[in-house]
Amino acid sequence: MTPRASIIERVLSIGIVLIFDVTAALAADFTTPAERAQYQRTATYDETVDYFQRLEKASGWVKLTQFGTSPQGRALNLVIVSSDKAFTPEKARKTGKVILLVQNSIHAGEVDGTDASMALVRDIAVTKERATLLDSVILLIIPIFNVDGHENTARFTRPNQDGPENAGFRATAQLLNLNRDYLKADTPEMRAWLAMWHQWMPDFFVDDHISDGADWQYTVCYTVPVHPNAPESIREWTRTIYDPDVKGQVERAGYKTFPYAFLRGGNLQAGVSTYVDSPRLSTGYTILWNRPGVLIEMHSLKDFRTRVLGNYAMLAATLDNLNHNATSLKRAIAQADSQTAAGLTDAYPLSFRPDGDSVMVDFAGYEYDTLHSDATDGRYPRYRHDKPRTWRIPYFGTFKPRVTVVPPRAYLIPCEWNEQIDRLHLHGIHLDSLTGPLTAKVERYYLDSLKWSPAPYENHIQPRYRAVVHETTMTFPSGTVIVDLHQPGAKVAIQALEPQGSDSWVAWGLWNTIFERKEYIEDYVIDPLADSMLTADPKLKADFDSRLKSDTTFAKSVDARRQFFYERSRFAETQVNWYPVARLLDSIPVVTPINVR
Ligand SMILES: [Zn+2]
Repeated sequence: MTPRASIIERVLSIGIVLIFDVTAALAADFTTPAERAQYQRTATYDETVDYFQRLEKASGWVKLTQFGTSPQGRALNLVIVSSDKAFTPEKARKTGKVILLVQNSIHAGEVDGTDASMALVRDIAVTKERATLLDSVILLIIPIFNVDGHENTARFTRPNQDGPENAGFRATAQLLNLNRDYLKADTPEMRAWLAMWHQWMPDFFVDDHISDGADWQYTVCYTVPVHPNAPESIREWTRTIYDPDVKGQVERAGYKTFPYAFLRGGNLQAGVSTYVDSPRLSTGYTILWNRPGVLIEMHSLKDFRTRVLGNYAMLAATLDNLNHNATSLKRAIAQADSQTAAGLTDAYPLSFRPDGDSVMVDFAGYEYDTLHSDATDGRYPRYRHDKPRTWRIPYFGTFKPRVTVVPPRAYLIPCEWNEQIDRLHLHGIHLDSLTGPLTAKVERYYLDSLKWSPAPYENHIQPRYRAVVHETTMTFPSGTVIVDLHQPGAKVAIQALEPQGSDSWVAWGLWNTIFERKEYIEDYVIDPLADSMLTADPKLKADFDSRLKSDTTFAKSVDARRQFFYERSRFAETQVNWYPVARLLDSIPVVTPINVR
């Protein structure tokens, strides 16, 4: 070796050492809080914001933005990761790339996706080990959606979960579950989310959770849009292009996967079943916009490190799949969008039930003993992790419509229901207003057989009723709001406004005044009136006598008897139990668009 060669070699080796050192320092510098804590802890809100700010400084591909503010005053953040630096919806759309939205910690405490997303953005945008994942994709990340719940930490918030030690609380500071709030949109967080969603209108959506439920070998469980609430082009794309590829990638990375399913009757040998996401849920909402969504449910009984790495594998596989299939995904969405905007003419399913069919599958579970608790007298399974076992069980994963409705041409909403009309605005529904009076043939619902939920659910007392449709001709004044169903958001409007939908706003209890009688009638008015009605109307008397004989409770109740005559009197309130939204069957008259408030 000449001295000169030796110097070159030394310089080269120093250079290599320097490059190695810089890379190592870079990696070390961007160790995520969870990695640094050996996966004992998840990143706090401040640590998460700080980490993404540092990624933003280190990479021109990362931008940290705010899309709203929580009730406790924390910023709701959206991280945009784009190799084109397309940090606005307009610029992003111009690139023609797939826009993927990954949402984390909507249920605070279910944090795996938050920590996985930090590592993933680092590996894409800073170390660039996975830079190619942005070749055809723009990545949007909500690091923590339920930010107030995330900071409401305690060691004992998730009893069925193996770490981290600082898991947050499921509900928001206002004690509402964000993943029941998509269609009704009560919370400030959801209202901000809806505005963000409509600005970006992502092509694909991922919602990261952690499961509860039985123990099994699978680390990554997930749902994809293969059920009939998704349009056919999306179902087909998911079934043939997304699901098999992503499942294969995640399993090759070392994580067993299975569709997110429940034990039937709590008994594994009776089989497992999936479900159709209703529009109160994230993926049940995004599919109303023809945007496929994946619900990831990391298995709660796997340790935190395994879950974060498994969540990372699922996100990376999704990005890889979207990169390779951007064109076909966009084509499937465009096909579904054009069908929706042209008007849905077939019976539209508002809800679903299992069709009873099943297929036999191999299910990777554990042997278990059934034990008895003296304290509770309950019986519970003790899973034997030393004895993994593949069970041959039925899998129930196919559904048929429970309730369908043929969509009208449009809905007519009297302008006084401004609170509900505002909610339609929040959902990005295009609204028009009558420029003059309209007399038209419409259908209206009468809601009878009313029962009330015995306890509040998500802050609502909910009515249960039978919806009976009546055809009538009515005149609507100028200013009545028209919801034309030839628009991309038609399915959102149908689910919100058809009273038979389980997540319709009247079913949620957002329209309860229509069930209330408002005027009083004094005893000294109704009692003599009832006597005179009985004398004057033989048919009424026959009805009353028959009711007295057949219904002893009624016969003994003065109030019920008074109600009987009141309802048949000229003072009866005619609006009670009539749902105020009318279904317009004919063509739409002259209207004027309403500006978004
Ligand atoms: Zn959850």
